[in-house]
Amino acid sequence: MELFFESHNKEETKRLGALLAPHLVPMDVVLLTGDLGAGKTTFVSGVAEGLDIKDNVISPTFNIMKCYFGGRLPLYHIDAYRLEDQNIEIGLDEYIEGDGACFIEWPKFIEPLIPDERIEIEINHKEENTRTLIFKTDCPRLARVLEEVKEAFDHD
Ligand code: ADP
Ligand code: MG
Repeated sequence: MELFFESHNKEETKRLGALLAPHLVPMDVVLLTGDLGAGKTTFVSGVAEGLDIKDNVISPTFNIMKCYFGGRLPLYHIDAYRLEDQNIEIGLDEYIEGDGACFIEWPKFIEPLIPDERIEIEINHKEENTRTLIFKTDCPRLARVLEEVKEAFDHD
C-alpha cells in the first residue's frame, strides 16, 4: 500500500514523524530516501520527539549511526551515505534486528542488511519549504499503522 502526504514546513514533517512514533515496536525498520536536504533527518527528529527522547537528533552522516536512549524505545538512526562501495559488515544488523526502531537514510548502500518487512518513505523536495512524502509498505501491520498516521495527520 502507498500513502501520500504533503508538508509545507519543517514542523509539519516533524509532526508526521511524531505521529508515527507511538506505533513503533522493537525491530521496526523505516527507510528514508530523497536527495540531500529533502528532510530525512528532520523526519527522524520528529520521531525522537514522539518517543520522548530528550536529545536533539543530528545527522549521523559522519558517524554512520547514532543511538538515542531514554525514550519509550531505543531509536537507531543510520545514515549509510558514506558506506558507498565500502565493507558494510560493520555490525549494523545488530541494531536493525535489535531492541529498538531503526531509521535508515541511504538504504541502497546497505541493501543486503534490509529486511523485507519495513516502511519506505520517499521525500521529494518540491519548493523551498514544500515536500511530498510517499509512505509504502507490504506489511499488513505496518499498513494499518500508516492508515492511522494518515488519519491523525489529516485531522488537524
Ligand atoms: P536530509 O536528511 O534529507 O539531507 P535534513 O532533514 O537534514 O535533510 O534537512 C532538511 C532541510 O530542509 C532543513 O534545513 C529543514 O529546515 C529544511 N526544510 C524546509 N522545509 C522543510 C519541510 N517541509 N520538511 C523538512 N525539512 C524542511
Ligand atoms: Mg540526513
